Formats: sequence, structure tokens, C-alpha cells
Amino acid sequence: MSQIKELIIHFSKLKQLKYINNLLNWDLQVYMPDGSNKGRAELISLVGELVHKKLISNKTETLISEAEQKKDLSLIDAAILREAKREYQKAIKIPTDLVVEIAKNASLGHKAWEKARKKSDFSIFRPYLTKMIDLQKQYADLINIGENRYDSLLDDYEPGATKKWLSSLFNNLAPQLQTILKKLETSGEEPDSSILENVYDAKKQWEFSNSVIEKLGFDFSIGRQDKSVHPFTTAVASEDVRITTRIIENFLPAGLFGTIHECGHALYDMGFMEEIHGTNLADGSSLGIHESQSRMYENFVGRSKEFWKYWYPRLKNLFPENLGDVALNHFYKAINTVKPSLIRVEADEITYSLHIILRFEIESLIFEDLIEVEELPQVWDEKMTELLNITPPNDAKGILQDVHWSGGAFGYFPTYTLGNLYAAQIYNDALTKNPNMPFEFTSGNFNTLLQYLRENVHQYGSIFHPRDLIHKITGEALNPEYFITYLEEKFYPIYRV
Ligand code: ZN
Repeated sequence: MSQIKELIIHFSKLKQLKYINNLLNWDLQVYMPDGSNKGRAELISLVGELVHKKLISNKTETLISEAEQKKDLSLIDAAILREAKREYQKAIKIPTDLVVEIAKNASLGHKAWEKARKKSDFSIFRPYLTKMIDLQKQYADLINIGENRYDSLLDDYEPGATKKWLSSLFNNLAPQLQTILKKLETSGEEPDSSILENVYDAKKQWEFSNSVIEKLGFDFSIGRQDKSVHPFTTAVASEDVRITTRIIENFLPAGLFGTIHECGHALYDMGFMEEIHGTNLADGSSLGIHESQSRMYENFVGRSKEFWKYWYPRLKNLFPENLGDVALNHFYKAINTVKPSLIRVEADEITYSLHIILRFEIESLIFEDLIEVEELPQVWDEKMTELLNITPPNDAKGILQDVHWSGGAFGYFPTYTLGNLYAAQIYNDALTKNPNMPFEFTSGNFNTLLQYLRENVHQYGSIFHPRDLIHKITGEALNPEYFITYLEEKFYPIYRV
């Protein structure tokens, strides 16, 4: 067998172990009673240990160095080798003790965070956060990629992203978003979104969201949708992709747009070319690119007028008691209401990225040792006031709102905003090449967009680095102007600016 073949098989087996863990996790979140959590956590951690041992084994090292001897590798084989090397070289830098310590602190920290948020008391979470930050600093110092600690953390989520690059991107983006926000706030227009808070029968919502994603291209012969507390997408194979949703009866957007969001992720995971199924390339190019797909479907498509020209009569038929007298335009404005709010996950398309920029700035301070943990709540509130002009009344609605830091996910938040930016640039390209697309949406035809994404994004999995992928698709580097233009063209008419 050729060296590269053996490497491919070795990493495919690692991928299968990861799929097993995905399935264990899916089952945990979808089906299992709380009382069974402990046993499941042990299984998940055992599989994680097997993955780590296999990854750092001598066999991995030998296979990589043998494959490196080979000249003229195909595009796919070269990418498989590149990703294998990247994963291996990171894993061997981290002692198993540290991996275990981080996992242990994550699970204790998660419990403390839940309690702290419930009581709105940061001091309950503070010792765990302090410990986690300390562990993440150790981790970053060992990984040691780029110019500073934060670069090492970013690399786990968005390969190649650096603090310097993000700072300049975000410093440019924040004032532009604030300018748009100001114009909307002073326009005198105030969309009425109260219709979204009537009671919408959960069963009917569920059926409606299933028919929406089926039309968008979600393939129910290789995928399924279930319910869970926190919506997510996971894969157990390239032909076994699962999404979950959370339906709230008196808040229509939660289930509806949550489902469309996860569907965007799933379409990516269902669309890899067959040659990379089961390999270490059967994944998104980066979290930012993955998020571009979910946000494109959720916002660019799912909150567009054209989309609702097709779907609104159908929704109205299902819920005549709520929407019978409500015009399409009223509904369209309601789902596109812009208003600064305290909670990130409830934020609109404009203020969302300001929430992310706040987190990025705080994480930067933390990893440069420029801030103490006890100062965090106050700095959070100050930055919130500065960026969004609202001040959290308590820690639960401020620094304690997100789960991510309890698990050690620092450097993760920026991928949400990168997702918006990538989405705008890619969507602009799709529209330029297929100007009829929005018109097709009005008759419930979403195939052109899916074909475009299959061809330009999905099929490649992680063959291309995100920076190369965006260049390959659009002929230029990531350019935030597309996002700004998209927002202006969409929201100024809604607010009659
Ligand atoms: Zn997402």
C-alpha cells in the first residue's frame, strides 16, 4: 500500500472515533434523562482518550514522515497530509495531564457557571474562570503559533486568523455598524414585532420548519431533525447529518430561524464530494466558513422579502388566528427589527457583531495579561455601554450570559462575525453570477443557490484553507464592505432611511 493510502486510512479511523463521540453526544442531548449524564460523560471521555492516544502515537509520526517523502501529491492527498500534520503537531505539544485538567475544569466550571447565572452572581463562577484562563494560557504558550498567545487560541477555530488581522477588521467594522444603527434609531420608524410573541402551536411550527428545510435542500434520506435545549448540527458520517431545534410557543423566530440556521450548517456537511467522505477533510474549511453557510440561510435567505413571498401565505394558512390580518410587509419588518439588546443570541443582524467585538476585545485583554478576572464584569458593562449604549442591570444579563468561557472556548467568538462577513461576500458573488436567484425564491425554488454553494463551497470540505477558499470563490481576500453594503441595502428601506 502506498504511504499516503495508509495515512488516509489511519486518519479515517480517527475520524470514525470522532463520529462515535458525535453520536454519543447527540444521543445525550436529544434523548437521555439528566440522571444518566455521568455514565455517558465517561464513555465520551474514553473515546476522546482513544483519539488522543492514536493521534500522538509513533505510527502517526511515521506515516506522516513517509507521506512527506512522496512528490507530486494530488490536491486531495496533499490537503489530507497538511491537515494530518497540523493536527498531529498541535496534539504532541500538549501533555495529556493538561488535556485532562482542562476537561475536568470545564465540567466543574460549567456547573458553577449555571449556578452563577441563575443567581446572577459572578463570584460563584470567578474561581473556575480564573483557573480556566490560567490553563488556556498554558495551552496557548505550548501551542505557540503566531505572534502572541491569542493567535494560538484562534488557530483552533479559524486557521490562519490572528489578533492583528481581527483587530484591524473589527476596528473598521464597529464604527460602520454604529453609524447604520444610529440612522435606523433616529429614523422615526418602529417596526411592531409583537405579532411574533403570540402563541404558535409547537406541532404546527415543527411541521412548517420541516417543510421549509426540505425545500431548501435538506435531504431527509441522510439526515434528521430533533429537539434539544441548545440547537446544534452534528455528523455521524458524511451521509448521516443531524440537526436539532428548540421551539418556543410564544416566540416564533426561535424555532423557525434556528432551524433554518442549522439547516445551513447541515447542507454544508451533506455536500462534501465523495472522494473526501470519511477522511479528515470531511469537515468545514473553518468555523467561520461553516457559520457563513448557516447565517446565509438564516438571514440573507430566511429573512428576505423574496423568501417570504413564497412562505408567508403558507404560514398564514397555518396560523390564521395570529397572522390572518397581518400583511406580508408588516411580518417582514417584524422579523427584521433592529434594536440594541443585552443578549447576544437575541441580537439582530446589525448589533450582533458588536456583541462579538466586545468579547474579542475582552479576550484580547485577558491573554495579554492586561486585566484581572475580578475586573471583568465592570469592563463588560463599560464596553456594552460604549458599543451599544445600553448597560446590563446585572451579571446574568452581562458577563454571565454565554456558556463558552466555562468550557475554555477562547478565540471562538470571532468566528461568528467572520461568518457574517464571509456570508456577505460569498452571497454577493452568488447573486452576481445568478441575478435571478431572489426571483426564484418567490416561487419556492432554492436550487440555484444550493448548486452554487455545492460547487463553490460545500464539495471541498476542508481541502482549502479559509483564506484560500474565499479568494478562490470571489477573487479577493475577505472584504467587510460586502457586509456593510448588504446591511445598508436591506435595512435602510425597512426603516425608510
Ligand atoms: Zn451556527
